[in-house]
Amino acid sequence: MSSTRVLVLNSGSSSVKYQLLDMRDGSRLAVGLVERIGEETSRLKHTPLATGESREWTGPMADHEAALKAVSEELARDGLGLDSPELAAIGHRVVHGGKLFTEPTVIDDAVLAEIERLIPVAPLHNPANLTGIRTAQALRPDLPQVAVFDTAFHTTMPESAARYAIDVKTADEHRIRRYGFHGTSHAYVSRATAKLLGKDPSEVNVIVLHLGNGASASAVEGGRCVDTSMGLTPLEGLVMGTRSGDMDPAVIFHLMRVGGMSTDEIDNLLNKKSGLIGLCGDNDMREIRRRIDEGDEQAKLAFDIYIHRLKKYIGAYYAVLGRVDAVAFTAGVGENASPVREAAVAGLEALGLAVDSELNAVRSDEPRLISPESARVAVAVVPTDEELEIATQTYALVNDSRNLT
Ligand code: ADP
Repeated sequence: MSSTRVLVLNSGSSSVKYQLLDMRDGSRLAVGLVERIGEETSRLKHTPLATGESREWTGPMADHEAALKAVSEELARDGLGLDSPELAAIGHRVVHGGKLFTEPTVIDDAVLAEIERLIPVAPLHNPANLTGIRTAQALRPDLPQVAVFDTAFHTTMPESAARYAIDVKTADEHRIRRYGFHGTSHAYVSRATAKLLGKDPSEVNVIVLHLGNGASASAVEGGRCVDTSMGLTPLEGLVMGTRSGDMDPAVIFHLMRVGGMSTDEIDNLLNKKSGLIGLCGDNDMREIRRRIDEGDEQAKLAFDIYIHRLKKYIGAYYAVLGRVDAVAFTAGVGENASPVREAAVAGLEALGLAVDSELNAVRSDEPRLISPESARVAVAVVPTDEELEIATQTYALVNDSRNLT
């Protein structure tokens, strides 16, 4: 029997998201989520796509091993168990791959050691990713496990974009540089945008705006990333749901010296209590739009700051690329919030950018153009699919290595 299924695992510190895909057509067989791992009220939600009927379970799950075992049992109930010979590989989302991992990689001890070595630059994510990998390896030691890195797509950035203008020796000693994140999404969406335009990725320059709760922009030249807005960590760049994005670094010294705040307090402030939630108390764009419609000034200001930053990045990446064929909006806000798309390109007609309000109002899960036919630059809404991209890369790698041996 040929093995055509890939399990995609996205392991967080207290959660595991998973999808089982059939790579003959990229369809989903099952999707699910385990939350609050390590607590008394861990929750598993599992949906087999054959019936679409979700099953939920709440109770104590001590650790990731218990969580993955529970997932495995749920999959087995649908005849999709992890012991099935149809499972070809497990693809893991790994947040930080540093400079070294430029491609998806079959995981061995050396790869695990390198992911571990990167923990100082990704203290929240890489330990959780490692736990997920080790647990999956214990469950199926014979199966290829592949790491797909959030940073990989950005490793093509030139040094001029990847380096901060700080002392080179200090930067190198502490591996301080701009790595960028959301790379799997930027890769997928830039390619899907080229397809929407009926072109090969190598022929088009695209600005991708991944606007979820976390948000980042990238400049993609002929299929290669040449700049992205997140940096050493996901804190840099756009205004996000709870993160500040760009800021004068001296704000931090000021908060320490004058505000008496500790490093952890400032970290928490900038990552969890800033961005939209810091500005207006809400980080959900639906709620912010609702408040604006009711005349709420604070929500309006938060929206305006969000759009101002977004527009600055569109302008900056236009300059970086020189010629832009498309601007693509993706992720929760980018795919759903038409007022954000409209406001982000408003006034940029001189750059060839415009949005057709009727097209922009259409709701759809399909990639689509929202610019007027006459526009020089295409503006597109392109739903992202990070799990499909991870599964595709995983499956391609496993098949390639099979063919080589
Ligand atoms: P992440 O993966 O970063 O958690 P998503 O890409 O799922 O985020 O995006 C989540 C965000 O998308 C929500 O916080 C909300 O602001 C926004 N969002 C989702 N649906 C809508 C909608 N219909 N209209 C406006 N914003 C939406």
